[in-house]
Amino acid sequence: MVNNRILILFDIDGTLVLGARCHYQAFVEAVKKFYGMEDDISGINYAGKTDPQILGEVLALGGLNDDEIKQNFQVCLDFMADYYLKNVHYENVRSLEGVNDLLKELQRREVLLGLVTGNLESIAYAKLGKVDLDGYFSFGGFGSDHSNRSFLVKKALKQAKNQFGYKGKHIFVIGDTPRDVKAAKDSNLQTIGVATGRYSKEELENCGADYVLDDLKNIDEVLKILSIYIKQ
Ligand SMILES: [Mg+2]
Repeated sequence: MVNNRILILFDIDGTLVLGARCHYQAFVEAVKKFYGMEDDISGINYAGKTDPQILGEVLALGGLNDDEIKQNFQVCLDFMADYYLKNVHYENVRSLEGVNDLLKELQRREVLLGLVTGNLESIAYAKLGKVDLDGYFSFGGFGSDHSNRSFLVKKALKQAKNQFGYKGKHIFVIGDTPRDVKAAKDSNLQTIGVATGRYSKEELENCGADYVLDDLKNIDEVLKILSIYIKQ
């Protein structure tokens, strides 16, 4: 039986894993194929943004107007997902230290685990699958659901309620960017910021994270934050 008292929604990139060479290349190939763009898009800050949001920004920076962007937008996202699944063998993803043990422990304690990530859903599961973390998750909000991260949090909450009968109020979002924090706050959720991405603890604290950690290596430290809610 799932412990309905606590729900944790995890971000993926910079929180559970690092490395997205294939994911980045999926953007490059997609904008080249559908929009003829060959510009270097490595200078953009992707952190905490959703895949459709990133794609829109890349195309706008390339000088395309809204109508031009809209024209091939969905087919371009579909291509990205296809490209990723076909090429995931060369993805350089690795799980961050402590993450597997933490997820195992949370699962043992029957915590309900979900995802909130800007990755398209198929990319998210393939990326996690590459490091054997996909089995911990069965629902969430993804970039394929919406371009706005706040909406993804709401979608994950709705699924927890409708598919898993979740009725609790103790919900945490764990992420590595101010965008994770903001999206969680829009739904009045508690947030744990982890400084394993491109933002420091101070930056995460300054944007309103309730708790900040250097990383998720120290399981006891994470459990301590959650302990008042977790069944022993
Ligand atoms: Mg992230």
